[in-house]
Amino acid sequence: MIYSKIAIIGIGLIGASVAIAAKHKKLAGTISCFDANDEARVQARELGIGDEVSESITACVSDADLVMLAVPVGAMKNVMEQIADDLKPGCVVTDTGSTKTSVIKDVSPFIPEGVEFLPSHPMAGTEFSGPAAGFASLFEGRFWLIISEGVSRDKVDDYTAFLQGLGATTEEMDAKYHDRVVAITSHLPHLIAYTIVGTAVDLESDIKNDVIRFSASGFRDFTRIAASDPVMWRDVFMNNDEAVLEMLQRFNEDLSYLQRAIRWKEGDKLFDLFARTRTIRKSIIEAGQD
Ligand code: NAP
Repeated sequence: MIYSKIAIIGIGLIGASVAIAAKHKKLAGTISCFDANDEARVQARELGIGDEVSESITACVSDADLVMLAVPVGAMKNVMEQIADDLKPGCVVTDTGSTKTSVIKDVSPFIPEGVEFLPSHPMAGTEFSGPAAGFASLFEGRFWLIISEGVSRDKVDDYTAFLQGLGATTEEMDAKYHDRVVAITSHLPHLIAYTIVGTAVDLESDIKNDVIRFSASGFRDFTRIAASDPVMWRDVFMNNDEAVLEMLQRFNEDLSYLQRAIRWKEGDKLFDLFARTRTIRKSIIEAGQD
């Protein structure tokens, strides 16, 4: 057992999945959970998520060796302010937020003396949210990125062992680099999905009906991504604006290139790109990340 007690704040898809998997794999003595949402606490209790669902955030974190913040990135600062005075000396605070530079900026000023902050990000998820969305195998074979700079090696090693216990593969990374990588691999694809589904919804009603009827082609995959939690994703774009805008600029340039190739009937340019991208898909499958 790696930790005597862990506290998970935010019992949504990620927090619930960690609690379920950690309990199943006996990675902690006690798993205490808290969520500001009354309905989420009731549901989590009914589902038996963790060992206890606390009614108070401070009681949840007291005596915990690991405190995991699994709330939307825009709420991290508020949570940290509430728990700062009740953290056990020597404990580690981590988070699961999809952006790292902004979370470090928001959370670090409230980390008390004797406590360390070890930011992290699981590269796993679904379009569902809330306690009922959680499941034990969510992190199996998925990457979990850790921003370990400046954190004691023994704390990083313990947390790494915990994440590996959840089934994840860990990788240490710099926060700014992380934000650029996820801007292109995760944030931009979501932005494109939200845009394309929004464009379809804005079409005249007769076309819109057929968009839904005939969605079995590529559109269906976009609707799945665009069904993701609106609060979480609003916060992601508000907090990783710099990296997303950089990737969006590059994307727009590449889109213009394709637009021009279509207009001038330059099929070879389209073919070359589509052939290159097909190999990327093959590499993702080979890496077990599909
Ligand atoms: P989620 O399913 O929406 O759950 C978040 C929970 O936190 C909700 O129950 C929410 O309540 C609660 N909450 C919000 N503010 C709070 C506060 N101040 N104090 C306590 N609880 C609060 O979210 P999630 O998908 O698990 O995501 C959690 C974090 O992991 C986010 O930072 C997200 O960026 C990151 N992440 C998500 C994914 C993914 O695919 N979903 C993947 C990797 C990382 P309300 O519903 O009332 O707001």
